[in-house]
Amino acid sequence: MTNTVPEIDLPIGATESSAPPAAMTFADFGLDPKIQKAVSEQGYSIPTPIQAQAIPHVLAGSDLMGAAQTGTGKTAAFVLPIIQKILRHASSSASPARHPIRALVLTPTRELAVQVAENAASYSKHTDLRAAVVYGGVDMKEQVATLRSGVEILIATPGRLLDHIGSKVANLSQVEILVLDEADRMLDMGFLPDLQRIIDLIPAQRQTLLFSATFSPEIKKLAQSYLRTPVTVEVARQNAAADTVKQVVHMVASADKQRAIVKVLEARTRQGLSRQCIIFTNSRLGCAKLSRALERDGIKAGAIHGDKSQGERTLTLDAFKSGAIEALVATDVAARGLDIPSMPCVINHELPYNAEDFIHRIGRTGRAGSKGDAIALVDASEKRLLDDIERLMKRKLDVQPLPEGSPSYSPSPASSRSSSRSDAPAKMSDPFFYKPYEPSAAPQSSSGATISEEKKVGITPARPAVGALLGGFKKK
Ligand code: AMP
Repeated sequence: MTNTVPEIDLPIGATESSAPPAAMTFADFGLDPKIQKAVSEQGYSIPTPIQAQAIPHVLAGSDLMGAAQTGTGKTAAFVLPIIQKILRHASSSASPARHPIRALVLTPTRELAVQVAENAASYSKHTDLRAAVVYGGVDMKEQVATLRSGVEILIATPGRLLDHIGSKVANLSQVEILVLDEADRMLDMGFLPDLQRIIDLIPAQRQTLLFSATFSPEIKKLAQSYLRTPVTVEVARQNAAADTVKQVVHMVASADKQRAIVKVLEARTRQGLSRQCIIFTNSRLGCAKLSRALERDGIKAGAIHGDKSQGERTLTLDAFKSGAIEALVATDVAARGLDIPSMPCVINHELPYNAEDFIHRIGRTGRAGSKGDAIALVDASEKRLLDDIERLMKRKLDVQPLPEGSPSYSPSPASSRSSSRSDAPAKMSDPFFYKPYEPSAAPQSSSGATISEEKKVGITPARPAVGALLGGFKKK
């Protein structure tokens, strides 16, 4: 990755990593009743820790660096105070001039952009503020019409936003708040030059919020360049997965992994657990192949990867959310930012090459305090990747023993794995080795509140189709 941001020590205005005050509620933020009403309608009464800590700082006008894991409720942590802060500009006038872009949220992927936009639409639905999303890979026409009609909260992926700026459809001269969401991923994806070009067009007198799952040196440099004495808010150990995620490794030879998945799902069914899962693969080809193979095995599967058109991805995601698909086979880029409340299970068909991606992957489960299982199918050739992951997470993962008599592969002689690990047997025999997972208890929000019914079943009730947001001035 090219990084031209100068390296200077980051001045940190304040750091907060403590738990939120007990019994804090959304009413304590002093948000406008129109916003509070929308929050209540979502079924949320207790802020998550990132919300409890970040919202007051954002309302006070501070720049902010938020180290928040996926699924911590970070979207509302910035969307709610943004709406509050720009509410004074809300206008019922139809004139585009009365609806300039006041808040800009940049995200690495279209999926995340859509989800942030859905949140912005939900939380602003009782106001006259407008929210819209623009991203690449789809026709520009609808987006142009939306931008021309005026929008206060714009969520965008960097490349497409620059296209709209280039054709003078988007104007950032009245932006007051800028959010860099999943900034680590934007840098990983090489968006730094695009970010620099965009930020240069935003007035210096702005408030800047940066959210990242991890605070790498590159992120700190980015913050140093574009944030002013930021408050740093950390709600989870850096580079750690949610404590509510139960992680298990099964040593399985590559050729047996697909069958292992089938057995895992069968075992979950026997235990009365949801079969809904996301299965991560490393390549587009592998993703498509695995999805087809699972379908042949009678599992309702769908693939989501970079070769799929936006329309196909949307259809698959909607089918998954409605429960028509039970196994969503995905690559990292396609899955980044997917918001599936209380995803009960994530399966790593292969370990990712980048250890940080593992944290993002398993962050698809255990969101907002609910419980989840993260299962990694690891073969001998992946041990180095497993070592990297454990080093990053600063913990050893539990390798579950295989049944007696299973045929085994020969562990690599160069293996540095601890001898106490049970990593020998790989091939499966029936009955499958799968050890039952404990059924999750009623999910709790990380601040202790029981979260809404929707989250207990693990399937999001029908949301408006993503397509409805396109071009989208959208109110739910
Ligand atoms: P996020 O980290 O923004 O992707 O949010 C993860 C999930 O938590 C989403 O499904 C949100 O709708 C949900 N969520 C956000 N805030 C709360 C809250 N205060 N209580 C319970 N769930 C929440």
